[in-house]
This record gives sequence, C-alpha cells and structure tokens, in this order.
Amino acid sequence: MADGWRKNLIDLEPYVPGEQRSVPGLVKLNTNENPYPPSPQVLYAVRNFDAASLRKYPNPTGEALRTAIGARYGVSPDCVFVGNGSDEVLAFAFRAVFNGSLPVLFPDITYSFYPVWCRFFGIPFETVPLDGDFRIAAYEYERPNGGIVLCNPNAPTGIGEGQEFVEYLLKTSPDSVVIVDEAYGDFGGWSAVGLTGTYENLLVCRTLSKSYSLAGLRVGYLVGSREAIAAVTAVKDCVNSYTMSNLAVEAAIVALKDEAYFQANLERVLRTRYQTMNRLRALGFTVLDSQANFIFVSHPDAPAQALYEYLGARNILVRWFAGPRVRDFLRISIGMDADMETLLAAIEAYLKEKTV
Ligand code: PMP
Repeated sequence: MADGWRKNLIDLEPYVPGEQRSVPGLVKLNTNENPYPPSPQVLYAVRNFDAASLRKYPNPTGEALRTAIGARYGVSPDCVFVGNGSDEVLAFAFRAVFNGSLPVLFPDITYSFYPVWCRFFGIPFETVPLDGDFRIAAYEYERPNGGIVLCNPNAPTGIGEGQEFVEYLLKTSPDSVVIVDEAYGDFGGWSAVGLTGTYENLLVCRTLSKSYSLAGLRVGYLVGSREAIAAVTAVKDCVNSYTMSNLAVEAAIVALKDEAYFQANLERVLRTRYQTMNRLRALGFTVLDSQANFIFVSHPDAPAQALYEYLGARNILVRWFAGPRVRDFLRISIGMDADMETLLAAIEAYLKEKTV
C-alpha cells in the first residue's frame, strides 16, 4: 500500500482538555463546569425553541446577542464579537491581533491553550515566570512585546489582579494589544470591560460556560475597540461564516437577562468555595487565594499525583498538571456541597491511610 500521503498530515501538539468520564455517581471537579443547572428561563427557551428555524443559516455575526451584550455594558454592538465558546473567540483574536515580530508575553503558569494557539498560528511568544507566590509581576511585562495575554483570575492558580494592574499593562504597552481572558471573572467580582472605552488596545474575553452554567451551549464573547473587533470578525469570516446557531444566540440572550438567577447561582458557588478552602486548610493544605470557581491546593504529606490517582480511582475527578512548580498542586473545581463532602471524606481517608 502506498503511504506517501502520510507525510502530508499535520504534526501538532494539541491542547488536552480534562477527562470526560461517564460513570454513575461520578464527582466531576476537573473542568471547572458549574455544578448547577442553567437558569430555568434558559431551559424554557430551549424547550420552546422554534426548531423549524434551523432550516435557514443564522445571522453570521450573532447580531441579536451582540446587541444584548453591548446594551449590558453600554457599548455599541460593533464593539462586541461573539463566538462558539471563548476558546474559539480567543483563537480568532490571537490570529487577528498578534501579527508583530516581537514575542507575545504571558505567564509560564496560565491557561495552557495560549502556547498551543501561538504555535498553531506561528505567533512568536515568551512566557514570563510567575513569582514565588504564583503572582504575576507586572513590571516584567514592561518591555518590547508583540502583545500580552492576561488570564484574570489566572488559571490554574485562581489568583486575580485588580484594575490598577490591568491599566499598568495597558499603559506600559500602548503599542500592543492586551487580551484579558475573564473566563472566571464573574467569580472574582470585577471586569476590565469598563476599560475598553478608554484603552483601544484592550480586548476582554468572557464566556457563559462557567458562571452561567452553559459550557455545553458554547458561547463566548469579546469586547473591545471597533477596529480590533472588525479584525477578529474578518478572521472568523476566513474560517466559518456562521459560528453561532440561532439556538445558542437565543438561549444566551435569555441567560444574560436572568440576573437574579445568575447572582443566586454565583453566591452558592462562592459560599462552597469559602467553606472548602477553610476545610482543606484545616487538613493542612496550602490553598491559594482563589477568585475563580476552582481552587489550587497542595499538601506537604500528600504528593499531588498520588492523591489525584487515589481520587480518580474513586471516581472523583480533579485536575493535575505535570509541569514544573504546578506538579505539587491539584486544581479542584467547586461543585455542589455534597460533591465537596465526598471529596473531603476521600482526602481525609487518604491522609489517614498514607500518613500513619
Ligand atoms: N479561558 C480559560 C482560562 C479557560 O479555563 C477556559 C475553559 N477551559 C476557556 C477560556 C474556554 O472556555 P469556553 O470555550 O468554554 O468558553
């Protein structure tokens, strides 16, 4: 058999998402999904969706959703881009705004999709080490660069930075685009979207996957200057004219409108985060100060990989990353109280078994 065709296959190192295991009774704390269902109004809208409308192509820019998001932040719909989850939005944004010859900068410990997109698109990049407390040293970004990516709060640490920090980056790199990935921003309580009116070099990316319990719907968005948004739209239009289905647009609009449910959902997650952090600290864990819907923890007597495997064998999924410095930590998504009780009981059992 001829096999010359094989040499034409692309050789890539893709991003690896967290495991999706389907077994009954699984405690799934590994992909930062929201444990609570979406707003009942979303469920109603999906159930009553006019499925016959699927015959036609949707609006190519998800215009109705861009208008709703624009109204929420008091910006023109032309300053909003919507996409099929923030991963897609970020990928298009990287392609659209990182076209210089200088390296794009982001922390060495951050969302591991960023280097994948850079390599995929041939974007030069350099990682900047977090400091000894896993914090981002803003002054390290004060050097010639082709762009900056800030995950805020950062993943997998959960540590968030404030407005002054973001403005420092924007002011010290006025000739670069700064992308702020706020996938977990709602759990930290502030957004840089309000700065987009002042800084034309700022793009803020947000998602409905986490705080709106809609990871399966795939809706993310970007807010920024008209020009930068037009560039991202042009990239999208070179790949796929219609990324947003009518169903996703309709359901997302309904989700964004149900503010009361959103707030209640957020508070439940934050309460459980607080309790879990305290309980783990009482068990001797180091728990970084989280402003996200996950926590990053390590224990002096429990090697992270061993604990990860112990929990996995009991169908409790958490995330362990093998990289230097992070390999001593586990990232644990905040689930329902009952999930966290199961997790804590298993951790206590592990500590008793392994440290006697
Ligand atoms: N940014 C960060 C930091 C994330 O952790 C994730 C989720 N893996 C995303 C973006 C993408 O989320 P989504 O595509 O579901 O919007």
